[in-house]
Amino acid sequence: MAVPAHDDRDWEFAKKFGMPIVQVVESAKGPVDVNEAAFTDVATGKLVNSGFLNGMEVTEAKKAITEHLVQKGIGTAKTNYKLRDWVFSRQRYWGEPIPIVKCEKCGYVPIPEEQLPLELPEVESYMPTDNGESPLAAMRSWVETTCPCCGQKAERETDTMPQWAGSSWYFIRYIDPHNKEALASPEAMKYWLPVDWYNGGMEHTTLHLLYSRFWHRFLYDQGIVNCPEPYQKRTSHGMILGENGEKMSKSRGNVVNPDDIVNDFGADTLRTYEMFIGAFELSAAWSQEGVKGCRRFLERVWKLQELVQEEEGYSKELETRMHQTIKKVSGDYESLKYNTGIAAMMALINEFYKAGRVTKGEFKTLLILLNPVAPHMTEELWEIMGYEGYLYQAKWPVWEEEKTVEAVIEIAVQVNGKVRATVKLAADADKETAIAAGKEAVADKLTGTVVKEIYVPGRLVNIVQK
Ligand SMILES: [Zn+2]
Repeated sequence: MAVPAHDDRDWEFAKKFGMPIVQVVESAKGPVDVNEAAFTDVATGKLVNSGFLNGMEVTEAKKAITEHLVQKGIGTAKTNYKLRDWVFSRQRYWGEPIPIVKCEKCGYVPIPEEQLPLELPEVESYMPTDNGESPLAAMRSWVETTCPCCGQKAERETDTMPQWAGSSWYFIRYIDPHNKEALASPEAMKYWLPVDWYNGGMEHTTLHLLYSRFWHRFLYDQGIVNCPEPYQKRTSHGMILGENGEKMSKSRGNVVNPDDIVNDFGADTLRTYEMFIGAFELSAAWSQEGVKGCRRFLERVWKLQELVQEEEGYSKELETRMHQTIKKVSGDYESLKYNTGIAAMMALINEFYKAGRVTKGEFKTLLILLNPVAPHMTEELWEIMGYEGYLYQAKWPVWEEEKTVEAVIEIAVQVNGKVRATVKLAADADKETAIAAGKEAVADKLTGTVVKEIYVPGRLVNIVQK
């Protein structure tokens, strides 16, 4: 393929060898001279000098030419993948040893299968060496061996495999870790594979996803696994950046050590903060103020025990709010929106403090909802309050859809289309009640003759007067 009018390298080639440069895509912005330079901004222009493709945009034309080839029976559409060449060795101790020996006579010889797996030698030091060689190279008793082919002296390969060697398939072994006969039994694979849901760090998404699928394809082609794809669903969580918004690294001096946070603020605070820091899949910058805010939130939850009443169940005032919060938090956890779920619980405890009281039932529900993000403190409160059994075994609270709807709503009252007041109404109030309440609220504004009364349920009352 060559498109000298629209590719710089092709254009230079054509110029050098005096070949014709035929424009096939017009610029949407007006005429261009392809003999002066290649015209490469072809995303929007229409095709010319291209037979039946003339007048189409490039994306359209690509589809049309493919269909044309299929129709003529001279080609089909196909997606090609290209895995780049990949250096599969490292000069370090930790890594799977490569089961190859170097023999002066036979060259590189693989170790026979019955001698596998080749294991790392026990060593005193596995630190990298000064000369750039693998630490294994210094273990002469391990390195020196005999050739499986000719029996003469030979040396083992001392480089080891990269982390991908194991990370691309380890999760298949988790299915059946003690199986000595196979990677995993067919029954176990049938039950577990493909993995329902694989989550990893955003920085591993591209390569790990590519390599593990490549591995899995290979194992499938070899008849070792039972399915061609390793997972049904794959997600990645965002990276937590340093306080300055840059990737954490020693050289930048912006590393936050989780152990320090645990020591200063507690494990529950760290956990709550990490869940609260932002949307699951997005990167977020660390904030010490944010950590403190989460600590304050947990302290407020702890102090709520002083406001707990004997009353079981939910209070009349907060019943709707409780059902709404259970629904919100449950849904948010399921869809990985931990930050908004925690925000809903923060708002809920504000309501408890505003009321100056919280029922036993309300506090119990709060503890269950909060348990996944602050397990230690909530379990402790559960015991202090004398709730039955262990919190982590407690049943998840349920919400009733009809109870999540506000019983009381606020609506605007307009006079001739202008908002003059607001009134609170029962959510199921009928038109007559709403209009009566609205008229009462704007009584001093109703000086003329009322000609029309409009009620938009849940929204507004409009009194039109002359
Ligand atoms: Zn040999």
